[in-house]
Amino acid sequence: MTDQLPFDTVPFDMFGMPIPNCCIWCHNESPEATFDVSHVLPECVGNENQQTLPHGIVCKKCNNYFGTKIEPALLEDPLFHIIAVALRLKDPQDMNEFRDQIFDSKHPPVGSVERNLHCDIEISPKNMKLNVRYCIKGGIVKTYQKRELALLSRALHKIAFENLAWAMINKRIQENIDILDPRFEPVRKWSRYGEPTNHIRPVVRMLTTDVKPQWEFRLWKFGGDIGAELNLFGDWYAVSLTSSHAKAQDDLKQWVGSSRSNYHIWCIGEDLSLIKPSRNKCIKIARETWRKLTKAWDV
Ligand SMILES: [Zn+2]
Repeated sequence: MTDQLPFDTVPFDMFGMPIPNCCIWCHNESPEATFDVSHVLPECVGNENQQTLPHGIVCKKCNNYFGTKIEPALLEDPLFHIIAVALRLKDPQDMNEFRDQIFDSKHPPVGSVERNLHCDIEISPKNMKLNVRYCIKGGIVKTYQKRELALLSRALHKIAFENLAWAMINKRIQENIDILDPRFEPVRKWSRYGEPTNHIRPVVRMLTTDVKPQWEFRLWKFGGDIGAELNLFGDWYAVSLTSSHAKAQDDLKQWVGSSRSNYHIWCIGEDLSLIKPSRNKCIKIARETWRKLTKAWDV
């Protein structure tokens, strides 16, 4: 049985978790632990304080660990990287310019890169009007190492679990869920400590044809477990927050595989395996996104 838990943009008055003053990742409490404000979705992919956890939920040590060791895996992934470039996502910490380029040292092109300048020119006695289209064309091939898949999975589980904490603190879910409950142990152990070390906890990636500068979170109950779906820039990512490592892949396949007929569905696990359409081994998806820039000079 699958139920989406009601999630509202307006806080409910009746529920909501008090600030635990206990780190949701390592369970250290104050005064041993000092706390930090944690960005649920990292700042480096454009979260400028819209969604943060206040002090008393994530300790400084864990927050620093995720920021330096785990979350950079998102932008190393070429799909996130090209979206970050296309949407011109900025890290408010450094207004990082490396994201200006589709092809960089971490995402080198395979073969040659072409730049195309298309221009329609209209000339009248007093004006010249240029209608410009400028694009860059080339290929990136990513051969995933096991370690990279593990870091990507850990980053996505981290965002999903902190999203749950954010929803509870901000009273967005009409159900009391104890974020410190031992049932979330598999996701804590995996995201924070990479345990168990011999398996990669699976994430289902559902690719759409639209790229959007927004993100979204949904919480589901399926069977006796809780699953989370993240929409990151148009694509959906689903994880189980409670399934054991051994069951997680089967649970996820069952949960998402039956209903989402419009998506191409992959599992990020030991490798990239296609769940839907199941008869194919690989598949091609075409994307084209035009985005209005807010400032004309922001190019
Ligand atoms: Zn901690």
